[in-house]
Amino acid sequence: MEVKDQTAYCGIYCKDCIHLNNEYSELAKGLQKHLKEIEFDKYAAIDSEFGKEFKPWDKFSIVLSKLSDTQCEKPCRSGGGCSGKPCKIMECCQDKNFAGCWECSDIEQCDKFDFLEPRCGDMPKMNIREIRKYGIDNWVDKRANFYIWQK
Ligand code: SF4
Ligand code: SF4
Repeated sequence: MEVKDQTAYCGIYCKDCIHLNNEYSELAKGLQKHLKEIEFDKYAAIDSEFGKEFKPWDKFSIVLSKLSDTQCEKPCRSGGGCSGKPCKIMECCQDKNFAGCWECSDIEQCDKFDFLEPRCGDMPKMNIREIRKYGIDNWVDKRANFYIWQK
């Protein structure tokens, strides 16, 4: 797959994303199925001295369900968005007929990137600056770390 195909509208390099072809969703689906088969929810619901740690079962189920549901089988550009759902950046680019935000003169002041900031910091806009400098086929070695905890 070419670099452009892996480069999302927002400047994210999808190949680095935790959700793309992840293993955890399949593992979570398997665990969900198994726990349902053995009715572990009923076991967890009963007050007992043994296994008090199972009390927050509902919260655990929500997390497990979310883990199952956040797999991207394809990159943003060919899969329709993060976890298969389009975002406002993607919709904005498509409305403007842009290949990506690097074609937009409003990028530095655009606030549509705010929802990416908690986990990715300024990475998407940093990547976009590199795409502008080196071109869509040659920018990828210059990309920033995907997540804020990566050094
Ligand atoms: S869906 Fe939006 S945030 Fe996710 S990679 Fe695509 S353009 Fe970026
Ligand atoms: S306004 Fe420009 S930078 Fe912001 S999402 Fe739309 S195309 Fe991208």
